[in-house]
Amino acid sequence: MGLLAIGTPLQWPEAKKAAGHVREWGIEQLLAIWRRAKGKERDALLWGDEIEYLVVAFDDEQRDVKLSLRQADILEALANDGDLLKQGGGVPGLQCGRNNKSSKTAPTFHPEFGRFMLEATPGAPWGIDLKDLLDVEEDMKWRRQIAKEHMEPSEFPVTMTTFPLLGDKKSITPYYPPSGEKLRSQFVPDEIANPHIRFPTLAANIRQRRGRKVELNVPVYHDEKTAKPWKDPTVDYDMHNWPEDDDVRNGAAKNDCIYMDAMAFGMGSCCLQITFQAKNMEEGRTMYDQLSPLGPILLALTAATPIYKGFLADTDVRWNQVSAAVDDRTPEELGEQPLKNDRWRIPKSRYASNSTYISRDPRLRPDYLDPDLIVDEKVKDRLIEGGMDELLATHFAHLFIRDPIVVFNEDLQELDLSKVDHFENLQSTNWQHMRFKPPPPGNDTGWRVEVRPMEIQITDFENAAFSVFVVLITRAILSFDLNFYLPIQRTTENMDIAHRRDAVLNEKFYFRKDPLPKRQARMNGASNPPSGASTPQPSRPASPVGPVEDEYELMSVDEIINGKANGSFPGLIPLVESYLDSINVDVETRCELARYLALIRGRANGTLWTAAKWIRHYVAEHKEYQKDSVVTQGMAYDLVKAAERITAHEGRDGFAKEMLGRCRQQE
Ligand code: GLU
Ligand code: MG
Repeated sequence: MGLLAIGTPLQWPEAKKAAGHVREWGIEQLLAIWRRAKGKERDALLWGDEIEYLVVAFDDEQRDVKLSLRQADILEALANDGDLLKQGGGVPGLQCGRNNKSSKTAPTFHPEFGRFMLEATPGAPWGIDLKDLLDVEEDMKWRRQIAKEHMEPSEFPVTMTTFPLLGDKKSITPYYPPSGEKLRSQFVPDEIANPHIRFPTLAANIRQRRGRKVELNVPVYHDEKTAKPWKDPTVDYDMHNWPEDDDVRNGAAKNDCIYMDAMAFGMGSCCLQITFQAKNMEEGRTMYDQLSPLGPILLALTAATPIYKGFLADTDVRWNQVSAAVDDRTPEELGEQPLKNDRWRIPKSRYASNSTYISRDPRLRPDYLDPDLIVDEKVKDRLIEGGMDELLATHFAHLFIRDPIVVFNEDLQELDLSKVDHFENLQSTNWQHMRFKPPPPGNDTGWRVEVRPMEIQITDFENAAFSVFVVLITRAILSFDLNFYLPIQRTTENMDIAHRRDAVLNEKFYFRKDPLPKRQARMNGASNPPSGASTPQPSRPASPVGPVEDEYELMSVDEIINGKANGSFPGLIPLVESYLDSINVDVETRCELARYLALIRGRANGTLWTAAKWIRHYVAEHKEYQKDSVVTQGMAYDLVKAAERITAHEGRDGFAKEMLGRCRQQE
């Protein structure tokens, strides 16, 4: 999650003083990239995925599982592995891809916020060739296997979004007591965070900017024997180590909520991210806009987070918790106090659904934009004066309403326009569900778009399935010129809807009624429009008219993904199928892709369960469960063991077939 620069970080009041300076230089660096790269053209659409892992340590005798804080040792072991270092050398005894891809580049491992986390990416980007999609799952398995081989025998890289007992004090190994100087958490020690100075400084400066600790209150799931009102029994109201310990006495911990008080409770969560490299900037801007309304749907489909701190929650996904965990807004910015020192009231945290559209697409109606968008007008003016168009200038001037959180003293000496450190400082701490990434200096990378809402899935099969789906729908969007535009505030609302228990089955989401282009056929004739688009229509550009409210309606995820029974909405999977039809995929590839698409279809129509539902069910059926929302150590051990087993067998032994389906058994 961002740059790991080194240097002497400024503590909060000093960092605040340097904020304007960093922003100014960041904007100059952005303009330098803009000038260099605005006309940059690439041949192929490349993409990559990122998998985040929790490193857990099992004690089978004690039936105990803890988070292992050995990230640095594991990364060092990986970095010192001669075989891995050899480009294309692979790892002895390992197979990657459907064939023995000893020529494949070894994956790359990265640190993440939690000292119990790892992140892995493929060694080289995936290409335009559809056959690449068939190698993703094997590569993900390969990554996990390599990670596992550089761990202790008792450790395992599990892909659950959150550790069910994070914050119960005994759930980390080695043990450190909570209430450190940086996080000041009641529940977790400072040692929970990656020790690289960037991470504890991020946590401490967010807390200081905010003027109190971050506050996560997740509604508890009320089961038969859960008290009403329920008070989080783990909160210590008598602690007096730090001034921030007053937070709970001032009402930070809410009734009927699981209370958490540190960045680690959010940024210690794992996700699945996909980054696309676009052919050129315009294509990137189109992808950013068109994928944005899909974000909440992807979040609901991947829901995997029903437990926090040893309690069942009433929500299914991590998103709002990560959002609260890095929410550095002051009481003035939050609207709790009249504006005096701060410049704006800011409606969203730095980690939130995105609030801008950026494509120069005639179909982008001004009505889709957020009328209350907060922008730094000075930044916007400077970007426009520097040659940037208004739409993109608005986007960046919105991101630049934030303060930089981690500022290194050494970087404030002179402005280096060949670098992007100041720009990246702001860009990489705006964690929105889509991110538009300009080409970095000094290499051949192009304009990129990052898709960030998805929760990590327990198996590599599921992670591959969601990656493949996102890639294919993106190809369909570009090939058919699909239009998913929705007023951006509806996407914000959809994001909240995605949090509800079983939202994927029970909730409805705002979605565009007609995504098909209003014209007869593709100009280049390369792809046929999907069925339903064949009615003669005026050719593009055809700016839509009529009330915006008539363009969208509430739909279930099933309707959005699989289509409406009456044919009035085609469905994203049928659109992907039409795309595959249009490019003549060979039968074998088509068959393999169908396995992945079947998982997405099943999740959407309820025949397959989300991990959130499966975990809830597992807990409810557990012999130790007392119907009181409490997840005990023994239950957590069994659950994480079950996740390990699911990862290894992927439903082939019939276990967790409700989540994975039977498709894996037929191989
Ligand atoms: N782990 C974070 C999440 O669950 C994202 C961190 C990152 O941007 O890499 O969304
Ligand atoms: Mg990450």
